[in-house]
Amino acid sequence: MMQAYLSIGTNIGEREQNLRDAVSMLLAQDEIAITAISSIYETAAVGYTEQDDFLNIAVALETKLDALELLAQCQKVENDLGRIREFRWGPRIIDLDILLYNNEKYETESLIIPHPRMYERAFVLVPLEEIMTQKYVMLEGVLEALQALDIEKEGVKLWKKIATVEEFVPFES
Ligand code: ATP
Ligand code: MG
Ligand code: MG
Repeated sequence: MMQAYLSIGTNIGEREQNLRDAVSMLLAQDEIAITAISSIYETAAVGYTEQDDFLNIAVALETKLDALELLAQCQKVENDLGRIREFRWGPRIIDLDILLYNNEKYETESLIIPHPRMYERAFVLVPLEEIMTQKYVMLEGVLEALQALDIEKEGVKLWKKIATVEEFVPFES
């Protein structure tokens, strides 16, 4: 089994429901088992700031899919939830990014792992740190990057405490 971490974000519509829908759709796939889910964090948009605040979570999963297959499944969830790509870093119903995959590095045209912008994003690292296990080698870079960021200044706020996947999507378990 491969171990992977995803970052899921949304800033359009019923944001918490969008996160629930995305997690449910991942759970519905036989090839994917979600092993941990973070609390929900809220952050004001960075970069293009003329848009609504984001909710973000991180999830840990185990899968037999290779990294490109996992990316395809993430994009399928985005499409099924009706994501429209208007412009990069603009508002979105849902965004599923692969942060880490089995301690491996990828650099292909369609997939870069670790996610190239994760180490500068508090809204990615704060939820990720909540669910990362000690045995995961890539943890070191995450903790270092987190120490370099001023979390309060980055505006990442705990929005809702989540303990288990079952609590978050009760009907799937
Ligand atoms: P950012 O990547 O800065 O978070 P974004 O998530 O809004 O921006 P998308 O429009 O979701 O960007 O994706 C653009 C492209 O990024 C996708 O078509 C995908 O092929 C590519 N990509 C590269 N590496 C990854 C990764 N680790 N996870 C998800 N997509 C990736
Ligand atoms: Mg993204
Ligand atoms: Mg993306």
